[in-house]
Amino acid sequence: MSYYEFGICPYDKTHRIMLFRMPKHIVKCEKNYRGPPLKICKYNATHRVLDMEEHLKECPYYLRTIDNHAVQIALTSRIAPIQEDGNDANTPL
Ligand SMILES: [Zn+2]
Ligand SMILES: [Zn+2]
Repeated sequence: MSYYEFGICPYDKTHRIMLFRMPKHIVKCEKNYRGPPLKICKYNATHRVLDMEEHLKECPYYLRTIDNHAVQIALTSRIAPIQEDGNDANTPL
């Protein structure tokens, strides 16, 4: 079974491109593009959008980095009190 995920070319909505070909396609399509300049998403170079703020609300790559960051903060704050206890001279053992 061969199944490929398709994405819509940001420069021409009529282009349906296999996702793994998107980076190359975008480079080619960008050269022929004559519309308003699109911003490149920091989190995935194949995301080209006019309104980056709007895009980040739904960008799965950006949302994933926020998730990871939140997890790291949660882990850090859980470790911190233990370290404080360890530095406490009154700690039993
Ligand atoms: Zn295209
Ligand atoms: Zn994005």
